[in-house]
Amino acid sequence: MSNIRVIAIDGYAATGKSTLAKKLASELNYRYMDTGSMFRVLTYQAMTQGFLKDDRLDNTAFEAFLSKNHFYWEGSTLGFNQQVLRNEIRTYEVSTNVSKIAALPYVRKFALKSQRDLAQGHSIVMDGRDIGTVVFPEAKYKFFLDASPEVRAQRRWEEMQQQGSTVSLEAILENIRARDKEDSERAIAPLRKADDALLIDTSNQNIEEVFQTLLSHLV
Ligand code: C5P
Repeated sequence: MSNIRVIAIDGYAATGKSTLAKKLASELNYRYMDTGSMFRVLTYQAMTQGFLKDDRLDNTAFEAFLSKNHFYWEGSTLGFNQQVLRNEIRTYEVSTNVSKIAALPYVRKFALKSQRDLAQGHSIVMDGRDIGTVVFPEAKYKFFLDASPEVRAQRRWEEMQQQGSTVSLEAILENIRARDKEDSERAIAPLRKADDALLIDTSNQNIEEVFQTLLSHLV
């Protein structure tokens, strides 16, 4: 990774990773890559293009579809299959399917290659689950964010309410717990803190406080 400089921000769902990664990228004038959005885009495609029906995924057809498409930079955001998806990938429905799709070996292989290719030539802040352990284990700076499930669900619920969603706090908490479990227990690239990552519990800190902690560790 000689021509790439990576800051890895991994951690549990809804710990503020993407807000912090975006803020850090803007402060340092780095590019930002939201790797969770990539798994969400793939999940959205599986759901809307008929590969995922009645909870069954047509793996052969979906894998063939992936082999014919790729992620690309559209300005500073990611496009896939000639589209830049935004709010569509943040729905509760996508959130309930994404961890199963993200656990599939061929999906992880596809995402891993895309992430490494897209980072080439950049100074970049990446947020996800396996950046510090698998995607760029040699990253110079690694952070791992955690917070209690209740705090995370409350934050995510408030965010979704503001966007007009009617999903209940209980449903969000259940989704967060389910994703934590699936993401941590999968066979390939499970969610775990890299040994050399700094653990930050954000339960009792606001974004600005965590941001200052991140900054204070960069030299
Ligand atoms: O970050 P976000 O919560 O949007 O990620 C959605 C899902 O994508 C996660 O719950 C996880 O299943 C998957 N993911 C992953 N590896 C990453 C980033 C996200 O498996 N690096």
